[in-house]
Amino acid sequence: MDEGALVLFSGGQDSTTCLAWALARFSRVETIGFDYGQRHRIELDCRARLREGISTLDPAWAARLGEDHMVSLDALGAISDTALTRETAIAFEADGLPNTFVPGRNIVFLTFAAALAYRRDLRRIVGGMCETDFSGYPDCRDDTIKALQVALNLGMDRRFVLDTPLMRIDKAATWALAKETGGQPLVDLIVEDTHTCYLGERGERHDWGYGCGTCPACDLRAKGYWAFAVNKP
Ligand code: ZN
Repeated sequence: MDEGALVLFSGGQDSTTCLAWALARFSRVETIGFDYGQRHRIELDCRARLREGISTLDPAWAARLGEDHMVSLDALGAISDTALTRETAIAFEADGLPNTFVPGRNIVFLTFAAALAYRRDLRRIVGGMCETDFSGYPDCRDDTIKALQVALNLGMDRRFVLDTPLMRIDKAATWALAKETGGQPLVDLIVEDTHTCYLGERGERHDWGYGCGTCPACDLRAKGYWAFAVNKP
């Protein structure tokens, strides 16, 4: 499709799958990442390696992949007191949300992304939000994203489309989508170079990638991978 896209790209499994999804569809694809004082920077450090790796998978993808934009959002870190930005244990709060929740984070990300997309003349904004997985972040809900799309289009007088290809699928289906989009080489790249672990551990290499193997993020990734691997086409 002859349209430009901006992908919210953190260097994790979900956003890497979204980047491939966008490269398979849109003629020009740029990436945006946010630094808000994450407790560990491993995920951000994976970004350049992944962008390079993904462009070697397909010459058409290499031609479509454009600039990377890194945006500092220190203010978001400053007003968040969560397990991702402070040295506190990951736990579930009384309201059922994990304390890794940064209130409104995706709303802030998408709003900054739209401001950049406006300047770069990119109509599609692609994010890995998903309402199927365990976390139940309210700003990942489809209704939230749809409402935000309306608000951004009214507020910027544009016709942005917020694409969330992972919204209705679970982690096993996310692995399957990667396989479908970029074949085994993309699955291998995601296993090897994306980072998911909340604790920032990179040490041990499991079949599903690197990580501590016990935090909620590793658990989700591993379970999804095994469900995918068992049913692999
Ligand atoms: Zn972990």
